[in-house]
Amino acid sequence: MTVDERTLDQVARLVAGGRRNVAFTGAGVSVESGIPDFRSAGGLWERFDPADYATIEAFRRDPAKVWQMYREMGELLDRAEPNAAHRALARLEDLGRLEAIITQNIDNLHQEAGSRRVIEFHGNARRLVCSCGRVESAAEVKRRWAAGEDFPPRCRSCGAVLKPDVVLFGEPVPQEASREAMRLVQHPDVLLAVGTSAVVAPASYLPVVASKTGGTIVEINVERTDLTGTYAAYSLFGPAGEVMPALVERVEGLLERDRSPT
Ligand SMILES: [Zn+2]
Repeated sequence: MTVDERTLDQVARLVAGGRRNVAFTGAGVSVESGIPDFRSAGGLWERFDPADYATIEAFRRDPAKVWQMYREMGELLDRAEPNAAHRALARLEDLGRLEAIITQNIDNLHQEAGSRRVIEFHGNARRLVCSCGRVESAAEVKRRWAAGEDFPPRCRSCGAVLKPDVVLFGEPVPQEASREAMRLVQHPDVLLAVGTSAVVAPASYLPVVASKTGGTIVEINVERTDLTGTYAAYSLFGPAGEVMPALVERVEGLLERDRSPT
């Protein structure tokens, strides 16, 4: 692995010693689960222009068209399984060294890996919502498709077209998630920014707030980001599925050493 071992040890000590560590995750965490970054080459946005498919205006104008993209995205998500990065973050929570995960991902993989406290900053594609307030599961809608029901899916209560419970461009971050995330990033010990380039507002403010309130920002990413050399005190470069397990293993080793009699 190319990750700098000395930096890894330093970060492990900070995480092991921290009581209020928070993770902030993005697309890079799920790449190894087979979900390409929508922005990347070959990603969803290459074939589906976000201006035509991922804005709330586009959905209101022509929901059936936008649902073509959702259906393809849904198939991608159905095939995906949590990877070593998701599992390492769940383990860190079990060890009492991770208060919560704030994720920009909509794939539900942190929850599937066993993480209990997950703030969904951009929603969750496993849920479908209607303007009337009804919530349905994506799995249930898939069953209806299999039974030959019309596309796009409609609300069982009012007949309107359902929308995945994800934040589209032009929509605000859900208020509760936003409030909770903002509270979590104030005065953390360590903020682990994993697999996120942290460029899209308002998510991009979170590391800034954490840094300005005294938190140590550690970024884990395959390449340099806007946080590198600015807000990040430490940068660990490599795939999240390699760096996170290596880090958590070290944290676990430190905690065991502290527990053992001297
Ligand atoms: Zn409805």
